[in-house]
Formats: sequence, C-alpha cells, structure tokens
Amino acid sequence: MNRIWVGEQAFIPNRVFCIGKNYFAHVEEMGENRASSEPVVFMKPASSLVPPGQPLNCPIQSTKLHHEVEAVLLIGDEGKNILKADSLSFIAGITIGLDLTLRDVQNRLKKAGHPWELSKAFEQSAPIGNFQPYNPDNIDIENWSFECRVNGELRQNGNTRNMIFSIKTLIRKLSQWWVLKPGDIIFTGTPNGVGLLVPGDKIEIQSPRIGSFAWIINDLE
Ligand code: MG
Repeated sequence: MNRIWVGEQAFIPNRVFCIGKNYFAHVEEMGENRASSEPVVFMKPASSLVPPGQPLNCPIQSTKLHHEVEAVLLIGDEGKNILKADSLSFIAGITIGLDLTLRDVQNRLKKAGHPWELSKAFEQSAPIGNFQPYNPDNIDIENWSFECRVNGELRQNGNTRNMIFSIKTLIRKLSQWWVLKPGDIIFTGTPNGVGLLVPGDKIEIQSPRIGSFAWIINDLE
C-alpha cells in the first residue's frame, strides 16, 4: 500500500506498531494466567499491509496460520511523550485489521527465546480495512466493538472497553519510546477466539460505523 486515504487526506504508511496480550481472555487462551505489567510491543513492516479484497497467500513454512482481529489506529500528528488527556487528538483515522500470526512458528520462537518476526512480520501479515476519519462525536473508541467471521461463522467478537492497556495508555506509552509520526499505524491487540485459517477460507472482519472487509486465503501452489 503506497497511500492510506482518510477522507480526502493521504498518508504514507510509516511504522506498524502491534500490541500483544492486551485482552485478558486472549492471554488466558494462550495458556498464560497473568497480564504483563507493560504493553507487549512488536512491529511489522509497512510492506506487510494488505488492502481489502486482495488474495492472501498462505506461508508454506507454517501449518497454523491464525487470525487475530484488532482495532487499528492511524496517527495523524507528530508527538513525543504524549499525555493521556491529549492522546486521542493524535488519531487521524480508525479501522480494523488482522494481525496474522504463524502460531506454530511463534511457539517455536518463544520457546527458543528468539524474536517473533518470522511468525508476525511475514509478507501480507497485516490485512487492514479502509480507514474512517476519527471523530469522537461519531464513535466512542473506548467502547468500540468489532468481530471476525470465517466462512460466515463468528470466531471473534471484541470490544475495546476490555483492553488491559487502553488506547490512551497505548499512545502515551508508545510515544515515550518513539516520536510518533503521521502515517504510523497501531494494531491494538486481539480479543479471544483466535483460530486457524486454511486455504480457501473467506475471512471477514466488521465493525459498526467502520465497515466490513474480506479476504480469501489462497490455495497453495
Ligand atoms: Mg495481535
């Protein structure tokens, strides 16, 4: 994706920050019983973003491609050490997306104490929907619901009110480590219900006032 459109405004995708373990029910389903005291942060390259409707190619190095539907933010202004009270004003657009994960590879890397890139930052690992301009009068992003269906079956149903670290906290924390810039994207973590995708599956994510976006998992060659 060379450009991200938010209304009439175009952004060049910059960094893709991702938050792990941000919903307790997902932490539990991953076999852990304690939330982290600080947000878990990792990144994907901007080149891993995939707009709606494009076919997704299954990585052949894995037999466990998992979907993780997430609320996604686009930063519109530069900011460092942003105060929580000001944080929402740095959001230009909002959408939902998929933090695609090679679960078998991730488990192997975790066990070895290695970085997660191979399991999280592979080609096409970040399908995202179209952005809507963020307007606090239209949506309460701290009580924002979204869902994920595979072949029509409901797999994940989340709401940002259940986050361990709120959107305001995430923007504050990220801006303490990086100078946030226009075009930065934040995947805010997945609720429970993550699960397997196989070739031929149609994955659809949707959220009121944001829209509905779908992708097909390609057959292996
Ligand atoms: Mg995730």
